[in-house]
Amino acid sequence: MNVYTTKKELHGRITKLMHEGKTIGFVPTMGYLHEGHLSLVEHARKENDIVVMSIFVNPAQFGPNEDFETYPRDFERDAKMAEMAGVDYIFHPNADEMYPNDGGIQIIAGHQAETLCGASRPGHFDGVLKVIAKLFHIVSPTRAYFGMKDAQQLAIIETFVRDYDFPVEIRRVPIVREEDGLAKSSRNVRLSSQEREEAPIINQALSKGMEEYLTTRDVKTAITAVATMIEENSSGKIDYVSVLEYPSLQPVNEYTNQVLFATAVYFEKVRLIDNIIMSTKEGLQNVQNDVKQ
Ligand code: AMP
Repeated sequence: MNVYTTKKELHGRITKLMHEGKTIGFVPTMGYLHEGHLSLVEHARKENDIVVMSIFVNPAQFGPNEDFETYPRDFERDAKMAEMAGVDYIFHPNADEMYPNDGGIQIIAGHQAETLCGASRPGHFDGVLKVIAKLFHIVSPTRAYFGMKDAQQLAIIETFVRDYDFPVEIRRVPIVREEDGLAKSSRNVRLSSQEREEAPIINQALSKGMEEYLTTRDVKTAITAVATMIEENSSGKIDYVSVLEYPSLQPVNEYTNQVLFATAVYFEKVRLIDNIIMSTKEGLQNVQNDVKQ
């Protein structure tokens, strides 16, 4: 496995591989790897000749009062894990390498960014699209792999790629969870031991909300069920609980095929997100493990 810290060197290597006709699977991350990231690598490994992972904590997607400074980082550990998982090349630039110039041109995420995390984190998805556009140009992937953990991010990236003709296939990968149901996240290490014990309630509450929706078909009742369960069983403060059509992120209606239950919860030092997606075709069912890929 090789580590590249400059765009030029990595792009040079990639250009050679492309001339050899190799397919390139790309896994963008912010590091502090866990099994969720490794699952993306596993999918990429199966479908491509070469796997490239980026590890870059992207300042452009953090707001002024967010956790950019304290976001967990451990490159040595990440490099070992990535190598074991079969990554061929890591791209690990610093912020000056990624953003040497600012000509003032902005990428603005569209209406899918007006809700959920986009509503609570103004500019977040603009920053995500900024780094993704650059990474896609640098890495020229055949396929890029994203986790359903960040369902809104994935939906917005799919729209970006479609509307701006990026020549890359976006692949969705199901959420990887701890045994107690908590979605794996680099930020989980920042939970106190008590918060860590409480946090699985998030996933349990989403499942409960889904059941409630199955019975009542009423979005408000389902949302209340999720919020109440989290508030009564944890010290977490709800940022949002939403039920929306996926991937449009519009309100559900009679034609909706996939329903997204999503929440974000603040603990003392960390904000956690999680979601469940259900298909309304052939009766409601959880499609988290067989989402379109
Ligand atoms: P991050 O390093 O948090 O920016 O995440 C990098 C990629 O890993 C994104 O596509 C995430 O959606 C994905 N990811 C993070 N956590 C998980 C998880 N628990 N299961 C599946 N994918 C995940």
